[in-house]
Amino acid sequence: MTNELRGLQPQHPTLYQLAPDGASLEFLFAQCPACGKLVFPANVPGCSHCGDPLSNAGKVARPGGGKLLEFVTLHVPLLPGMEVPRIAADILIEDGIIEEGVMAGSDESCLQVGMALRAVAVALPGGETFACRFVPAEGAAR
Ligand SMILES: [Zn+2]
Repeated sequence: MTNELRGLQPQHPTLYQLAPDGASLEFLFAQCPACGKLVFPANVPGCSHCGDPLSNAGKVARPGGGKLLEFVTLHVPLLPGMEVPRIAADILIEDGIIEEGVMAGSDESCLQVGMALRAVAVALPGGETFACRFVPAEGAAR
């Protein structure tokens, strides 16, 4: 395991990028030119708030994080190669935008519905890519 994430590529480059601190993630939103709200992911075919086609939408990077809505520990791999146990979570990443995320680690005892989360980069096996994981915003090393 390495802490050097800067040389790695994001597993989902349309969704997030490494923040300047080299550990946190920034989420990539589109800003709707019609209603001004943020849309995620940035490459959706239309604004989820007002339906604008987003043909002239600007891209906005925001510190990745959100509010924990619910979570469940998975013990059975849903996909080949998936590490278990893992904690899958529904996270409110922006007003009106709920995404499914994965918590770092497998200890639910530190999690509480409603708590603030922060997105961090975690290197994947193979040493070429990093994935998005969520950690509690407080107590996380910055
Ligand atoms: Zn809109």
